[in-house]
Amino acid sequence: MKKLQLHHWILLAMLLGAGIGLPLNVLAAKGTVDAELVQRVASVGRAVGDLFLRRRKMLGVPLIGSSLISGVTGMGDLKKLGRLGGRTMLFYLATSALAILTGVLMVNLIQPGVGADLGLLEEGAGTPSVTAAEGDVSDVLWSQLQGMIPTNPLRAASDGDMLPLIFFSVLLGVFITFVEHGQADEEHGEDAKAAANAAQLRRFFEGLFAVMMKMTLAVIQLAPIGVFGFMLFAAAGKGLEAFEALGKYALTVFLALVVHAFITLPLVLRAFAKVSPLDHARAMTPALLTAFSTASSNGTLPLTMRSVEDAGVPSAVSSFVLPLGATINMDGTALYEAVAVLFIAQVYGLDLDLGQQLVVALTALLASVGAAGIPHAGTVMMVVVLAAVGLPTTAVGLILAVDRILDMCRTTVNVWSDSAAAQVIARFAGQPDAAEVPGTAPA
Ligand code: ASP
Repeated sequence: MKKLQLHHWILLAMLLGAGIGLPLNVLAAKGTVDAELVQRVASVGRAVGDLFLRRRKMLGVPLIGSSLISGVTGMGDLKKLGRLGGRTMLFYLATSALAILTGVLMVNLIQPGVGADLGLLEEGAGTPSVTAAEGDVSDVLWSQLQGMIPTNPLRAASDGDMLPLIFFSVLLGVFITFVEHGQADEEHGEDAKAAANAAQLRRFFEGLFAVMMKMTLAVIQLAPIGVFGFMLFAAAGKGLEAFEALGKYALTVFLALVVHAFITLPLVLRAFAKVSPLDHARAMTPALLTAFSTASSNGTLPLTMRSVEDAGVPSAVSSFVLPLGATINMDGTALYEAVAVLFIAQVYGLDLDLGQQLVVALTALLASVGAAGIPHAGTVMMVVVLAAVGLPTTAVGLILAVDRILDMCRTTVNVWSDSAAAQVIARFAGQPDAAEVPGTAPA
């Protein structure tokens, strides 16, 4: 018999959770089964789900830290990156920002969480307040910016305070690279020993990242149990109502992804790369299908490289732009983070003003940069964005129930956006001078 893959198990777990929970909910409403008992079943479901979530959370700090540090050090000599590096980063941030904007507009338009009762308010915590400062947009941004600079990076890590951790990790990565390439101290010149030590440190973080990815993938194998638990909780506790809200939420993410993938990115391809989006899509088909089925941009990377080169991008460009993109450029993930957090805020009955939505948008951008290109990494990062606006992280469990299918869609958009970046950068790099492209300079 063919071995079932993880996404099949997740689907089965969803069906099982709903299959047990829904009838119980209906029978409890009719009075055939003791309503208290059904609520107890729902709480057991939640407890099971939470157990899975805890393991996932445990991975957050080391995964994000090592992903960012090795992402930055992997760029090599930062000074040699020059304009190509700058342009690539700019493109990545700009398309992710466009994706987030699309998501924010869509979630405000559809309002999937308004009026939905997913049982979150019965946690005893009451309605949470949004702690991201209220009022003036500039004040809000200023206080977020201040909060990003850790007074003690180790405390930030131990408190799971992700934004300062992201800030510190990027800075650490930059300085490891500077020291390794003898550029940290222009006055006193190169220090061969420091450079060798920095290279060792770089390898340490690369190793840590490789191990953390494997560990995350192992924990993700348990996802069906978590999904079953949360599905049971939602179905037994809230019945069809829960599904309506979750369905609307999933539809919102999906529609926003469709707009970004079918309108925004093709326009970018046409306008900046001067290529036919259709021809490009045709060449990219194998990579896009793989991204969809594996939900991993990292896993798809070799195929993304080949397809992009088939689409006419020189390998000198693709070999720099794509590995970096698989780590930091995640339009789909950024969009999804923003939509999910605003959805959760809506479920809590909170009306976020412009400044607060801006904080969500910015944090979503950073979270997508910090997310690793593996399945469900986006939900690990969700905790970051929720914490940034002061929302409880328990709600992540609920959206986990429908996460796999959304992960498949957003990963496809992540890879699609990386490939569009490669086309645009190739055009601007012209016939790239090998020395300008890291990793291709003659030894
Ligand atoms: N699975 C996504 C990727 O590999 C990341 C995410 O979970 O959003 O690109």
